[in-house]
Amino acid sequence: APSPAPARPGTPAPREDLAGMHPYGAPQLDVPHMLNVNENPFPPSPALAAAMGEAVREAASCLNRYPDREFEALRADLGAYLAEESGIPAPAASQVWVANGSNEVMHQLLLAFGGPNRTALGFAPHYSMYPEYARDTFTRWVAADRGPAPEFALGTEQVLSAIAEHSPDVVVLTSPNNPTGTALDLEIVRAAAKALAPRRGLLVVDEAYGEFRRDGVPSALTLLPEHANLVVSRTMSKAFALAGARVGYLVADPAIVDAIRIVRLPYHLSAVTQAVARTAIAHRAELLSQVAVLRAERDALAEHLRGRGHQVAPSDANFILFHVGEDRHRIWQALLDRGVLIREVGPEGWLRVSLGTPEDNTAFRTALQEADPR
Ligand code: PMP
Repeated sequence: APSPAPARPGTPAPREDLAGMHPYGAPQLDVPHMLNVNENPFPPSPALAAAMGEAVREAASCLNRYPDREFEALRADLGAYLAEESGIPAPAASQVWVANGSNEVMHQLLLAFGGPNRTALGFAPHYSMYPEYARDTFTRWVAADRGPAPEFALGTEQVLSAIAEHSPDVVVLTSPNNPTGTALDLEIVRAAAKALAPRRGLLVVDEAYGEFRRDGVPSALTLLPEHANLVVSRTMSKAFALAGARVGYLVADPAIVDAIRIVRLPYHLSAVTQAVARTAIAHRAELLSQVAVLRAERDALAEHLRGRGHQVAPSDANFILFHVGEDRHRIWQALLDRGVLIREVGPEGWLRVSLGTPEDNTAFRTALQEADPR
């Protein structure tokens, strides 16, 4: 990371609660096998890249104007996609909201539903950004624990007792969870939404990795008609292989979308972003066919790691958390020395590897055998 600029006399002081903090930053290193931030390893095909170029060219011809502030066409496209993907009736545009990555979606949610004297609750180990959205919005962040390794499961009782103990205004449940890969039983979502309803609390189910879930596991999207306080957040960064375009979205009751509209910055979603996202959705058959490859690679790699004697967290996502013991930093470094970048994240002794192409995954296996012979 770049070192902070030296303070000159008179340099303004940021907020006291930000003193000494470091920006989010997984290493961005140019190595042959980048398996550290749960990206999709498959770039757009030349035909899709050309179609995106054409869509951007069209958008460019009116970049003197602000973009459609309500991105109506994109919302309709996403509604149609979700109906197909999750077997739900297509959500209306008024139920869909889009922002620059689900990071911005979640940030906006906490701007509108968190705030001073409000509490947000999550379950650790969780995605590292959650406490940062809370900090930025002056929301108190509380993390209860997930169940023990290697399952890192979450149970209904556990969630209900954490809600009873902390009286949160917002609860974030992640399915599949990052960094553990654990999918969530919908009974838990149902029970949490019901428990929060009398206090008008919000339940956010972060399904950033939703498309990688196992067959037959329903999405929390199917519960939206039952619960006015449920939000399901998704992203185009993972299954759609569109991390570089920054497109995340949520589906919820229109009243929740209306509340976000109050805090969003005007025209936050550029015309270029909207054009690229719509083109990717139009080519979804091609993009989503790669999800099947990644799921198969995931299951094969989990088997391989278990075969080597690692504890492996059961994963419904495009990454795997596995146990290496006290040596984790040395092993992480030894993998990097061999051109394989994975992530030192999660509980002590565990490492997380994102699934890459079959070639990436083979390189990872070879490097791991050298770094940690078994
Ligand atoms: N939620 C989870 C659980 C994630 O792991 C990530 C990204 N790693 C995000 C949200 C944010 O992704 P994006 O902003 O690219 O949509």
